[in-house]
Amino acid sequence: MTPHDVIVLGLGGMGSAAAYQLASRGRRVLGLDAFERGHARGSSHGRTRIIRQAYYEAPEYVPLVQRAYQLWRELEVESGRGLLRITGGLNVGRPDGALVAGALTSARQHGLPYEYLEPTVVAERFPAFRLTDDLVAVHEPEAGILEPEACVGVHLDLAARHGADLRHGERARGWSVDGSGVRVDTDRGAYTAERLVIAAGPWASELLVDLQLPLAVQRVVNIHFEPIRPELFGPDRCPVHIWEIPEGQYYGIPALPEQGVKFGRHDAGEICNPHTIRRDVDAEEIEALRTVLDRYLPGAAGDVKWTLTCMYTNTPDRHFVIDRHPRHDQVVYACGFSGHGFKFASVVGETLADLATDGETRHPIAFLSAGRLDSSVVTIP
Ligand SMILES: Cc1cc2nc3c(=O)[nH]c(=O)nc-3n(C[C@H](O)[C@H](O)[C@H](O)COP(=O)(O)OP(=O)(O)OC[C@H]3O[C@@H](n4cnc5c(N)ncnc54)[C@H](O)[C@@H]3O)c2cc1C
Repeated sequence: MTPHDVIVLGLGGMGSAAAYQLASRGRRVLGLDAFERGHARGSSHGRTRIIRQAYYEAPEYVPLVQRAYQLWRELEVESGRGLLRITGGLNVGRPDGALVAGALTSARQHGLPYEYLEPTVVAERFPAFRLTDDLVAVHEPEAGILEPEACVGVHLDLAARHGADLRHGERARGWSVDGSGVRVDTDRGAYTAERLVIAAGPWASELLVDLQLPLAVQRVVNIHFEPIRPELFGPDRCPVHIWEIPEGQYYGIPALPEQGVKFGRHDAGEICNPHTIRRDVDAEEIEALRTVLDRYLPGAAGDVKWTLTCMYTNTPDRHFVIDRHPRHDQVVYACGFSGHGFKFASVVGETLADLATDGETRHPIAFLSAGRLDSSVVTIP
């Protein structure tokens, strides 16, 4: 008998949630991560993540995100730690654009509360915002902010409380099937278990080499600005916001204590990998974001408080991949979160735990299977 039922490779947003879910079901879990707890080298650092429901990307995500909200709230109760803050959210774009039309489709199809706001109404309700006449906003009252480092930390703490053996600073070099189970080789030793969960974020291609998934890792920059008019940008007056405008796709977070206004571009960034990503942020990148803020959120972009870089792991259609390995039933994986996965981490953990223990899940994830992807467009640099 092996000492572990399941090995979880990668303890970031998704892996920490999977480790928690498995351990809380009584599975003997070994969790491995290449870096120290709370590291900022992957995709789940940066203090804030937007959570929203009127999902413009596809209405199929709505039941998943609704379950994610439930699980985040349950996690708050079990841990005694606040993780999710509701601020409301604005989806801003042209009425016929993919963002506004998609948010409306999801809201209507799933009976979500929303309001369709013309620019003048937006300015009255949320004076930080100045929409040009060609834009409208879909306001969703249930959108808000998750604290990613706290979410990962709570998942890890509770996984350990349920008996998981979590090891940071131990890199998996590879894995192989071992009879009906698996063997994982790390830079410190070798482990066996019945099942393997791979949640390696931007390193996914290295641990799933045989699948040749068409994943492209993208460098993303966020800037925290000291607002010039702080009275407009606090979370009581300023919702989270995402934009589809002629300048591109953007997202922003209201000014939280000490953090200033956070702003970033969603649809562009250097292709990289976790070993080559450029961590410095240059003046042009800051100015490009400042220019957009000055136009649509005047008074937001004062001094720069700090900058950060992070990575998206994009699929060609920007939908996630959550699946079982096509040749090895004992291996399940989740990757390709394409810059919008964190809000789902709690339900992705539950789904991975379902797949690893039962081979199936009640969650509607067929649209996220790897079979839809064309591996001939692999773009790993
Ligand atoms: C700037 C930015 C803003 C974002 N904003 C939002 C948002 O507002 N809302 C939202 O929902 N999503 C957002 N996202 C996306 C979201 O953060 C990611 O989809 C999510 O964090 C991905 O989690 P993950 O577990 O796949 O990856 P990670 O959290 O990076 O975890 C992967 C882990 O695997 C470990 N690992 C890798 N290889 C090995 C190995 N060989 N051995 C052991 N361990 C290994 C790594 O060390 C890492 O800890 C944003 C992303 C970025 C970068």
